[in-house]
Amino acid sequence: MCKIENKPNIIPSYEMQDIFKLYADEYTSNHTLTSIQKRAITDIRNCRTSVLGYNAKECCECKNIEFSYNSCRNRNCPKCQGQKRFQWIEDRLKTTINVPYYHTVFTVPNQLFCLAIFNQKIFYDLLFKSASDTLKLFGRDSKYWNMKDLDDESKQPKIDLAFFGILHTWGQTLVYHPHIHFIVAGAGIIGDEIVEPKYNAKFLFPVKAMSKVFRGKLVEGIKNAYYDDQLELDDDFKDCKYFESFIDSIVKRKWVVYAKSQFSSSERIVEYMSRYTHRTAIANSRIISIENNTVRFRYRDYKDNNKIKTMKLSSDEFIKRFLYHIPPKRYHRIRYYGAVQRLSKIKHEKIVTIENSENQINPDKPTKPKCKKCQSTKSETIVVVDGNQKVVQGLMTPKILALKREIQFDDSS
Ligand SMILES: [Zn+2]
Ligand SMILES: [Zn+2]
Ligand SMILES: [Zn+2]
Repeated sequence: MCKIENKPNIIPSYEMQDIFKLYADEYTSNHTLTSIQKRAITDIRNCRTSVLGYNAKECCECKNIEFSYNSCRNRNCPKCQGQKRFQWIEDRLKTTINVPYYHTVFTVPNQLFCLAIFNQKIFYDLLFKSASDTLKLFGRDSKYWNMKDLDDESKQPKIDLAFFGILHTWGQTLVYHPHIHFIVAGAGIIGDEIVEPKYNAKFLFPVKAMSKVFRGKLVEGIKNAYYDDQLELDDDFKDCKYFESFIDSIVKRKWVVYAKSQFSSSERIVEYMSRYTHRTAIANSRIISIENNTVRFRYRDYKDNNKIKTMKLSSDEFIKRFLYHIPPKRYHRIRYYGAVQRLSKIKHEKIVTIENSENQINPDKPTKPKCKKCQSTKSETIVVVDGNQKVVQGLMTPKILALKREIQFDDSS
């Protein structure tokens, strides 16, 4: 499972980009890649280099103009997550209420991964659906809520939850390990009112009972997909008896839904979660060295007291593992459920705004780029030039051109 390290923003000395620059050509000539895997490699390789062109930004305070190469904006690019993350935090805080928030993770037995990897879209959809339906089912049960809070106790109202889930497909060593992190607001939502949880436990509902329900739903979904002929499988699976015995063995394995943490403040949880949402399989800061077709990187060993260790992989194996985690085209890795949108209308509850969260001290908080002269974070993009030297946004003026020459900004690719 993944754990996010609380590290200050450091500029890494080795990057995914370097690995692709050195070894991707060899890899692509020896392996068959999907078009979106090829796209990701090209984008990451070219990110913030002259190949993608450049842009000029003008500081809103002191009018200083700075040039930089364009970003690739590929969602699999470790460099391109910061800005998106900042926007995501702002958006999320608009629909966050002031109640405790719970973080829970749904995992499946490893034996299912052989089926998942060749059926990613179907499998991830099933994972999202089974897990979210399980949460909704428990959420509707009034025994978990303090119904005394309601004005009229005699009614049997419909109780909604508000939560969102984030699909991760990786473990710490980049192995394939699909699981979903859910963040659940600790409130039963009835119309535009809320009721509080009855028990003050690590999670809102008993995780063992949830595991069983989740397992039942996911297994049923896989069976339906199999009998509807939707799955790509090895020849062995063509025999229903083989498939059924495989499923029986899976059911006996450990299905873990676990409660990870609880947060008293919605601001904390949104910042904390942004470290999970806007992540790629590996952060550049974890890469230690790249040499002689070998990549060394840091990982946390959960089976050994969470110790930080170093793993050494051949560049070929490293790239292979990284590419496992490129999701299907346009796949939504973050999904919102229940009354999330209604939260902003809940009465008597303070809605947290982004201004509040900016006062917080968080070493892993994304930072906006600052003007080199006056340190202001407010700037405006005045011109964007693509890799073919074509102006695609704004206007190129003689002043900008002269400045570019003066500082010798290199736009040749
Ligand atoms: Zn994870
Ligand atoms: Zn990028
Ligand atoms: Zn400035």
